[in-house]
Amino acid sequence: MFGRVCSSLVSCRPVLRVLQGGSRHLRHCNAAATTSLPSVCFISRSAASDFTSRCFASTSRMADKEELRKRLTPLQYTVTQEKGTERPFTGCFNKTYDKGTYVCICCEQPLFSSDTKYDSGCGWPAFNEVLDKGKIKLTPDTSGVGANLLLLITQPGRIRTEVTCSKCDAHLGHVFDDGPPPKRKRFCINSASMNFIPAAGDEGDANKS
Ligand SMILES: [Zn+2]
Repeated sequence: MFGRVCSSLVSCRPVLRVLQGGSRHLRHCNAAATTSLPSVCFISRSAASDFTSRCFASTSRMADKEELRKRLTPLQYTVTQEKGTERPFTGCFNKTYDKGTYVCICCEQPLFSSDTKYDSGCGWPAFNEVLDKGKIKLTPDTSGVGANLLLLITQPGRIRTEVTCSKCDAHLGHVFDDGPPPKRKRFCINSASMNFIPAAGDEGDANKS
């Protein structure tokens, strides 16, 4: 019923075909002609539909990445797409306190208000609250301990919480529980992952990315 599908999601997309007229399982994959894969792939119609979606999604993501690579600076790309971190005290928004809204540098989703920004002294822009919980995603980040399971168990505090944009998955920074009361949150965010939209009447020179 089910067989191997072409491993090349991108090259498969233009040639994906599901045979018409009652055959539920056959489709021809020309991409296999240029690989070591068999020239005919067996797959159910529903799986083919799902596979087509994944093909398009994969191609779309690649196109998005290419567009971002052209539009962003190397640092902005590294931070948002490769989970990089700008050097402390170097970000353009570290000491900015103008009134306005900080948006995602990739998709422009509003993320933080200047009203919640404070000087944490950590070297990166810090906020004690996000504009809306739905604007971000929080994910455990074990990159600080790598594959060291002993460290993972004995020093759970080294597991950080990554903050990403809920709309485009851009890496923004991390959140810690050492912020000011009452929330005690410190969203430690890279300047390179944000743009700043000044509030009306407060359009200083802070609108830079
Ligand atoms: Zn985004």
